Amino acid sequence: MFDTEKLRKDFAILKSGIVYLDNAASSLTPEPILQKMMEFYKEYRANVERGVHRLSQRASQEFEEAHRKVVGFIHAKEEEEVIMTRNTTEGINIIANGIEWHKGDRVLTTLLEHHSNFIVWLRLKRRFGVEVDIIRPSSEGILDPGAFEEAMTDRTRLVAVTHVSNVLGTITPIHKIAEIAHDHEVLLLVDGAQSVPHMPVDVQRLGCDFLAFSGHKMLAPTGIGCLYIRKELLDGIEPLCIGGGTIEEVTSEGYRLAPSPRRFEAGTPAIAEAIGLGAAIDYLQSIGMQAIAEHEMRLTEVICKGLSSIKGVRLLGPEDWRLRTGIVSFCIGDLNPHDIALSLDVSRGIMVRSGFHCAMPLHMEVLGAKQGSVRASTYLYNTKEEAERLVSAVEEIARAFI
Ligand code: PMP
Repeated sequence: MFDTEKLRKDFAILKSGIVYLDNAASSLTPEPILQKMMEFYKEYRANVERGVHRLSQRASQEFEEAHRKVVGFIHAKEEEEVIMTRNTTEGINIIANGIEWHKGDRVLTTLLEHHSNFIVWLRLKRRFGVEVDIIRPSSEGILDPGAFEEAMTDRTRLVAVTHVSNVLGTITPIHKIAEIAHDHEVLLLVDGAQSVPHMPVDVQRLGCDFLAFSGHKMLAPTGIGCLYIRKELLDGIEPLCIGGGTIEEVTSEGYRLAPSPRRFEAGTPAIAEAIGLGAAIDYLQSIGMQAIAEHEMRLTEVICKGLSSIKGVRLLGPEDWRLRTGIVSFCIGDLNPHDIALSLDVSRGIMVRSGFHCAMPLHMEVLGAKQGSVRASTYLYNTKEEAERLVSAVEEIARAFI
């Protein structure tokens, strides 16, 4: 257990007394990370990999150090396997656009996905004649690995699946799916946007080939994310953008790309943000990812048990809180989710997300939640009292309107 009250002091926004339960959309950023970024602007602001002068040298060292921190954090084998991107969406797009597709190739994905891990595959259909097979989770949002085995064909080239649902908080059994994929010599891309910030993630243990995630959901600033590409696959992925910084040699005839990660990081990168991400990893590791996961589970228990006992409230996904991370989505009767979210903010100072959470097929085709839902999502700075405050506010709304 860690001292939530103590670490809350690092988050200036919390001093206003708000209850921030919209962490699946974006997290807050604590003081030590802001300071680390300010240090770049105040002490050594310069471009990376370009100058021999001392500021550029220092900026380059800090930027590279941020890569190394990510390598350690996700247990990659080599530094070249970790590429700085803008966010999860960009990471997934790099893979979708970097593989050479042939007409008739197939991608296997699921109805649980965020649009960022869904429409990129649908687009391949239109552009290259790639077929997309879509696995349906159970009505509780659980994916059965057996369904992946059944859906494999001779033409399947890639499985793209989320590690944790951004609507239901359910955890996908990635290592089982990885075994199935690799038995069929199929690549596996994992959307780690909702797992990497909240639990220990080890790419080698998971057995994935690609993993994309965003810094802004794990205390770091916006505009920075990461893509892991397994070393053996690096040469087979064509970079999405090329230009300054991505080459080893250029002549009037052509060019030779630099080794990874530089070949994928075209132009001047988000330097302060990458350094901020490195600092976020230090911050999270000083607490411990397992401890964070356990803390969130305790809060999820309070929220799930509390909400499921309120008349008129429908909890989406499994009632058993042990099957979730810190994400709980719900509906109150036929009330519009945006009205509920607005009321929670105005009357109780509670920030939650409302709508489809970029997962329209899941809401419409699996959960039957045609107006979307309200989503509460926790992080390391949330307290049991805040979870209880949410439950009592929802109870009040349900009592008044249902
Ligand atoms: N995948 C999942 C599961 C997500 O929750 C999100 C963010 N809501 C994304 C992808 C996209 O993340 P970003 O907007 O940072 O690219």
